[in-house]
Amino acid sequence: MSFHAHLRCGAGCEGLLAPDEPVHLCPSCGGLLEVVHELAPLRERCPAEWTRLFDERTRRTAWPYGSGVWGKKEWVAPWVADENVVSMVEGGTSLLWAERYGRALGLGELWVKQCGNSHTGSFKDLGMTVLVSTVKQMIADGKPVRAVACASTGDTSASLAAYAAAAGIPAIVLLPRGQVTTAQLVQPLASGATVLALDTDFDGCMAAVRRLAADAGLYLANSMNALRLEGQKTVAIEIVQQFDWQVPDWVILPGGNLGNVSALGAGFELMRELGVTTREPRICVAQAAAANPLYEAYRRGWARVEPQVARPTAASAIRIGNPVSAARAVRALRRVDGLVEQASEAELADAAARADRTGLYACPHTGVAFAALEKLVARGVIGPRDRVVVLSTASALKFTELKVGYHEGTLADVPSPRHANRPIELSSDPAVISDAVRRALDTAAATAAATDAATRR
Ligand SMILES: [Zn+2]
Repeated sequence: MSFHAHLRCGAGCEGLLAPDEPVHLCPSCGGLLEVVHELAPLRERCPAEWTRLFDERTRRTAWPYGSGVWGKKEWVAPWVADENVVSMVEGGTSLLWAERYGRALGLGELWVKQCGNSHTGSFKDLGMTVLVSTVKQMIADGKPVRAVACASTGDTSASLAAYAAAAGIPAIVLLPRGQVTTAQLVQPLASGATVLALDTDFDGCMAAVRRLAADAGLYLANSMNALRLEGQKTVAIEIVQQFDWQVPDWVILPGGNLGNVSALGAGFELMRELGVTTREPRICVAQAAAANPLYEAYRRGWARVEPQVARPTAASAIRIGNPVSAARAVRALRRVDGLVEQASEAELADAAARADRTGLYACPHTGVAFAALEKLVARGVIGPRDRVVVLSTASALKFTELKVGYHEGTLADVPSPRHANRPIELSSDPAVISDAVRRALDTAAATAAATDAATRR
């Protein structure tokens, strides 16, 4: 059985390209490309055969199929020879039942897809493994690629640098100086990437890297590159697989450059086209109010997405005013009756902290998604019986500055944090310690009683 996939222009220009051609834009119009899979060869296996094959491969060691991405290789990147796959066993992340947080919101089925539990701590690994593997294949075939390059708000550069280092390919990353966290800055440095910290914002870095990539020899690794979306679409497939091939009612995810939105939609669409599922979930994109071009377009009845200058937000990875994948994200959302919500700085920080109080440890972007969830539940758009999945995009361990600022009450945009928790500093006197513990337990008991009463109402 052989599988066929091609690159084609998203704007409809004639012609197909091979996915391992070193181009990332349409040669005719300069627009974005997309990967198309021929469905006829994929339909030679029936849905039950596909799901059995994917289930058998999950988390096994047979190279490269134990990866959550490469376990679905035929649907994702059949053009990559196994010896060129650059994998760090990405995907396969937990889908956990957020039972206490869901119950507090009146939801029986709230689930969190922990995409940040990945090699470099964010969902970007899913797409980067496909891109860097394809680049390794290009180089093996003698194509003129000297290095990979990206602009980043942090997570993309960490992922690109690590995968490029694993493959022995030079990486160049452009970051907005002073706008990424320490943890995110040190990741590409540690991987040996050439890190350029520019006096501009992400959108400025994006413009600069696009100019650079026009020079022969640099391959652009941003999410405008269609190869990354192929890997990212496996999130949708994995969620359905983890529900024993059942489709949830809602998926909520934070959106910045919006490639993840169209990738998610593509995954659900492919499963339905191949008969593995019969429906698709509604999708909600959650944006920070400080960087909300998609929300504004949605609010105006899906008007054109107008670029804006993104303002500072704790959700720094989605501080993007001119999302490159806006058009394809809107197409995906309209197809599934999707919608867009937004969250202020206080709302995203409080929602993340509230979820943390139930044992989660949410990054600020996941906080944006939780804040959107809380609004949709309050408005009755999401009902108590709906099965809801929130995509958590990154490890909160990368965002210690926000957590510290929140609990210390030093965030300018969050003057009254609702769930702040401070260390109790004491002498070592046993009586003083016992007294402090007794008071803490009394407070906890009173809070639990009040919460139970509120949940029963
Ligand atoms: Zn074109």
